[in-house]
Amino acid sequence: MLNVEDIRKDFPILGLSVYGKPLVYLDNGATTQKPRVVVDAISNEYYNVNANVHRGVHFLSQKATELHEQARETIRAFIHAKSTSEIVFTRGTTESVNLVASCFSEEFMNEGDEVIISAMEHHSNIVPWQMAANRRGIRIKVIPINDKGELLIDEYKALFTDRTRLVSVTHVSNVLGTINPVKEIIGIAHEHGVPVLIDGAQSAPHMPIDVEELDCDFFAFSGHKTYGPTGIGVLYGKEVWLDRLPPYQGGGEMIQHVSFEKTTYNELPYKFEAGTPDYVGSHALAVAIDYLSALGMDNIQEYERSLTDYAMQQLQEIEGMRIYGTADNKDAVISFLVGDIHHLDLGTLLDRLGIAVRTGHHCAEPLMHRLGIEGTVRASLSFYNTREEIDALAAAINRLRQMF
Ligand code: PLP
Repeated sequence: MLNVEDIRKDFPILGLSVYGKPLVYLDNGATTQKPRVVVDAISNEYYNVNANVHRGVHFLSQKATELHEQARETIRAFIHAKSTSEIVFTRGTTESVNLVASCFSEEFMNEGDEVIISAMEHHSNIVPWQMAANRRGIRIKVIPINDKGELLIDEYKALFTDRTRLVSVTHVSNVLGTINPVKEIIGIAHEHGVPVLIDGAQSAPHMPIDVEELDCDFFAFSGHKTYGPTGIGVLYGKEVWLDRLPPYQGGGEMIQHVSFEKTTYNELPYKFEAGTPDYVGSHALAVAIDYLSALGMDNIQEYERSLTDYAMQQLQEIEGMRIYGTADNKDAVISFLVGDIHHLDLGTLLDRLGIAVRTGHHCAEPLMHRLGIEGTVRASLSFYNTREEIDALAAAINRLRQMF
């Protein structure tokens, strides 16, 4: 499958010690570490290529443009989109969702129209809709979950009315690890003629994505969670939708002609890319994606699934352990509380033992309310994590539990 020992050598940061302990990095849901090739691609581009893209006739500008547009093609292939016109560069998942919420609601939603989201959304797939709701007078409906952290599909079906305009749900929960049955969710929405946005922030780094096969209308993900740099992300949109949406921001790049009376907009995808794009970030993201593709997304998924199963087993054996998110179809995210230890205390003490986990509400406060808790400790895994690191986590929790 994967040679994790060799893979770890590609990630220099994993060799760090913190507080004199070897770093165990289990905060991959927040951001992933970068392989050396990605960091090298960034410095190489600044040293040897740097020039603004699209507008220049000179050598460097053309070279930078080539790298930027090749990156778009790499991303198109990675998620199996039909055309590079459907790949819009953004700053990340958050901006991608804001773009759709803003442009879609402006064009297609009026007072009394409805958008369906789910109880397990990240704030970035809640707040943009609330902002749109405030502007447009639309209603937000929420798909509930069961106690295992799975969406209730019958309840979802019952939410549709003739005012439903869009469904926007996460592929994988960043708290529960639930892999949602998005293909089924999309199919149901399409039966009602309703398009679907998938938040792929936690799925694109972990499993093969095929937007054509899923038949989603929009798909968003972040570069920095996908082993690429921060500040770059992707919005995939079917051409039929992107064509009909108004631009998001105005400025350079997104125009065809401007006069003081009138502006005509650029073709897709540039209509949505106002201003100088992050052309270094796009190229470095493509390098990250090439790295993932060389490992094989199927292999990554299989390895991470087996590591997650192992981690679930090890953690469940700990006295007082309560795991939030026990869906049958679960990805590499494990949220938990132990006894009555506060999540912040546990996270802080784990850090002192060299173990990086996340604590708090994980930008999903409504989900915390549903679970009746304030926050959790979250371990989120990557293909570069090992069973030894899971053992270290379990041993550390046991030690701290006894201390408490
Ligand atoms: N959606 C989910 C499910 C996430 O986990 C995150 C980040 O944690 C986001 C959206 C937001 O991603 P970003 O901050 O990269 O825009």
